[in-house]
Amino acid sequence: MVHKLDIQEVYSKKLNFMRFIFLGVGEAFDENYPNNSHLVITERTKLLLDCGMTAAPQVWKFNPDPNLLDAIYISHWHADHYFGLPGLLLRMWEGGRTMPVTIISRKGFKEQFKKLMDLAYLGFQEKFKFEINILEAEVGKETKFNDLSLSFTKTVHSSENLAVKISDNKNTIAYSGDGSPIAGTDFYNNLDLLILETYLYDKEIIGHSSIVSAISFAEKNNVKCLALTHINRDFRKNDLPKIREKIKSDKVKIIIPEPLQEYDL
Ligand SMILES: [Zn+2]
Ligand SMILES: [Zn+2]
Repeated sequence: MVHKLDIQEVYSKKLNFMRFIFLGVGEAFDENYPNNSHLVITERTKLLLDCGMTAAPQVWKFNPDPNLLDAIYISHWHADHYFGLPGLLLRMWEGGRTMPVTIISRKGFKEQFKKLMDLAYLGFQEKFKFEINILEAEVGKETKFNDLSLSFTKTVHSSENLAVKISDNKNTIAYSGDGSPIAGTDFYNNLDLLILETYLYDKEIIGHSSIVSAISFAEKNNVKCLALTHINRDFRKNDLPKIREKIKSDKVKIIIPEPLQEYDL
């Protein structure tokens, strides 16, 4: 179902379930689909997952409130996953944000973030009327944020990428960021929702999952629902409509979401 941009609903009553919004579902350079970026909404938290160069406008389209987000998770430092941050933060500032925001990413992000902000809008961060807290994500260490528990694991990608698992004690989901997941851990077992980056149908490219391998991975891990995102732009446009029927599983519900589509858990 495509989200009806019912902003009032998100605010007027607290959700007693986890809502996942696929803000953008595209790969790095797709002219039709904004970069892979998602919003997790629970009773007490609104967490953005990744914010690439074409993702920030999706956040504003969904809801332009400058105080919307509590936290932002950055899976890895590729432009299609974090170059939207300066614009997102400056629009929060222009909108009069007062609430602190937490950015979570792997070790070293503080320096990387400073470089990014200096390059994009030198001197502007000092004007912000809100605090930016940086939390370091570490493999094997659980991070608590409001009503969420977050844990992290590496994937196989061309840059160090950490997949994140998010639990609100009722539901558990995981988002791969980029890269194929590493088998042989219980990290992905019994998830209610797994958002996996995939690139092509059955052709394996180092650093990316294929649709076929993603389905088999989700089946082995007893995942309830698998969402396929970050699909190659030419494949998505030209081939996916022809083979859409082939993408199915007896064991796992599979969705290929459109931007701003929501999924309630
Ligand atoms: Zn990417
Ligand atoms: Zn990447």
